[in-house]
Amino acid sequence: SEKVENVASSVVDANDLNVRKPPGDVKLDQGVMDRYMALPQGTRVQAEYVWIGGTGLDLRCKTRTLEEKPGAVNDLPLWNYDGSSCGQAPGDDSEVMLRPVKIYPDPFRGGDNIIVLCETCLPTGEPIPSNTRAKARASFDAAPGLEPWFGIEQEYTLFDKDMVTPFGWPKDGEPGPQGPYYCSVGFENAYGRGVAEAHYRACMYSNIPISGINGEVMPGQWEYQVGPAVGINGADDLVMSRFLLQRVAEDLQVAVSLDPKPIPGDWNGAGCHTNFSTEKMRQEGGFKEIVEAVEKLGKRHKQHIEAYGEGNERRLTGLHETANMNTFKYGVADRGASIRIPRAAEAEQKGYFEDRRPSSNMDPYVVCGMIFDTTCVWDGK
Ligand code: ADP
Ligand code: MN
Ligand code: MN
Ligand code: MN
Ligand code: MN
Repeated sequence: SEKVENVASSVVDANDLNVRKPPGDVKLDQGVMDRYMALPQGTRVQAEYVWIGGTGLDLRCKTRTLEEKPGAVNDLPLWNYDGSSCGQAPGDDSEVMLRPVKIYPDPFRGGDNIIVLCETCLPTGEPIPSNTRAKARASFDAAPGLEPWFGIEQEYTLFDKDMVTPFGWPKDGEPGPQGPYYCSVGFENAYGRGVAEAHYRACMYSNIPISGINGEVMPGQWEYQVGPAVGINGADDLVMSRFLLQRVAEDLQVAVSLDPKPIPGDWNGAGCHTNFSTEKMRQEGGFKEIVEAVEKLGKRHKQHIEAYGEGNERRLTGLHETANMNTFKYGVADRGASIRIPRAAEAEQKGYFEDRRPSSNMDPYVVCGMIFDTTCVWDGK
């Protein structure tokens, strides 16, 4: 394992739109494309293997043909890729293994074609260092039977083709101040709804438990929610939903940023609120369980903050509906808290809590695994 280390620095900037030059004219003739895509593909099936590259955020994919539609994920072949091209392995020993973990219907190719979420491993089967899913699995396995549910609110910001201007913003300045854009409707308020709508439908087609969308406080910024989903599925489905978002935005020629504070100043940042409950929290008297869990989170605040996303310090300032990252604070219905307990959970004395700290670019395996570990595995001492 010493040979395959994380050499992510060479590709780390790939996620930062500001340092990238925008592509030239890449638009193809859709009418011509449709002719080819309408050709029958016979009985064989296309499987798009998807994995996470060396920055922990870059999603990578490549396709292979299967002779027939697989019945289950275990029927799928292992595969490999050039880890040195994803910042995950040195060139002289560059093969990283792809281990299929979950199958999703493919909304882009349709039919029996599939998208396959994969873990990244050494040829020995041992996870490579950037494989945070393996670590999350271990956390969940340490306390089985608790039926943990995750509901994740993914916020994201659309950018114009120039990759500098948020989508729909004037080229020579800023739109009017925040206020009318959140959950808005109308030409003057909602920029890029088509991306959110197309992505919503793609998620439904792929059996991702997407539970809603809304326009965000900053114009050009949107949110969707995934969940509730059980255990590791919550994180898996969020990763796949991000892949679908990137792919939809590619087709529509809009850039997606998961930066936690894409525009400095008096503009809201982008988060990834993570809602969590266990079976006990959802049952009669679960409120006590919720409060105990939240207090444990407070004891490990610093550790969680460090793992909750790159650049989150630009977002968690105490302004714009956030708690300052140096303080831990929880409260009922408090959107300026680190953790919010919904009013309904207090009223019904059961339900869930919302961790508002994770940033839009967080690693869901890290965040979900840590929330579970701190609240359900750790004794709090
Ligand atoms: P907010 O009011 O913070 O904007 P949202 O409606 O955007 O909340 O998101 C709430 C998320 O919490 C949804 O994904 C929802 O499915 C999820 N959720 C609902 N109940 C639970 C629960 N018991 N445990 C975990 N997640 C839940
Ligand atoms: Mn090649
Ligand atoms: Mn929300
Ligand atoms: Mn939001
Ligand atoms: Mn929220």
